[in-house]
Amino acid sequence: MRIKEGVSFVELHPGTRYAVLVVDEEVRRVTGAGEGVTITSFGESFKHSDTSLHYGTSFLGRKTREADDRCRAFDFEMDMFDQDEKDGVEKGVRRRLGVDFDLVLEATHWHLEYDPK
Ligand SMILES: [Zn+2]
Repeated sequence: MRIKEGVSFVELHPGTRYAVLVVDEEVRRVTGAGEGVTITSFGESFKHSDTSLHYGTSFLGRKTREADDRCRAFDFEMDMFDQDEKDGVEKGVRRRLGVDFDLVLEATHWHLEYDPK
């Protein structure tokens, strides 16, 4: 796993911490990239919408069934991989994480958040 300079996951919800490890494993398994996934964002300011789970669940009073309001989302790079590799990573991550995690394929990055249903 690589983490961009200035990006920290000291304050990360345990469910999201688990998802980071799963994504890293799937990227290495599918693509053979020895360095694994590159994380570009956790809960830094000025990058995400006001209600984003990047800021946890206390932001603007958003509530879920859990009280832990630490950062629940992260972004990572997938541009360096071809479509077959992207498809394989997407399939593996969705299969392993299930419905309590949302994977969103943005134009410039992929976003993953822990959002228990
Ligand atoms: Zn994001």
